[in-house]
Amino acid sequence: KESPAMKFQRRHMDPGGPSNNSNYCNQMMRRRNMTEGRCKPVNTFIHKPLADVQAICLQGNTPCKHGQPNCHKSSSRMKITDCRETNGSQYPNCDYRNSHKERHIIVACAGNPYVPVHFDASV
Ligand code: ADP
Repeated sequence: KESPAMKFQRRHMDPGGPSNNSNYCNQMMRRRNMTEGRCKPVNTFIHKPLADVQAICLQGNTPCKHGQPNCHKSSSRMKITDCRETNGSQYPNCDYRNSHKERHIIVACAGNPYVPVHFDASV
């Protein structure tokens, strides 16, 4: 079964990306199995090596959006792509808008080893 850490990597890690391509989100949301059963409405891909993202769990502790205590904010900005479903998107033809940014990211960490399991926000 897929662990929470592996699920985070599937949903959020794309160190080599983004491909210079207006279809980035449409392709990646499908490839990473976020358009099965329904279109996941929003999702962020992180364009940094996994080790740099795992290291966020040792960086500034901050409350999560829903009040849990296990979120951490990256000390540096990271290249990310936000994928947001368009108004016209209709399952099974999930359609997304790409939004490339450079932001501090906030992830929730859990487990032993203590690693990212949820993408909370970018600021
Ligand atoms: P995503 O990262 O795509 O937003 P979820 O919100 O489904 O995914 O979170 C993935 C997993 O992280 C869930 O199994 C959830 O239980 C776990 N988790 C651990 N800590 C938190 C937290 N503080 N906030 C949200 N989810 C958390």
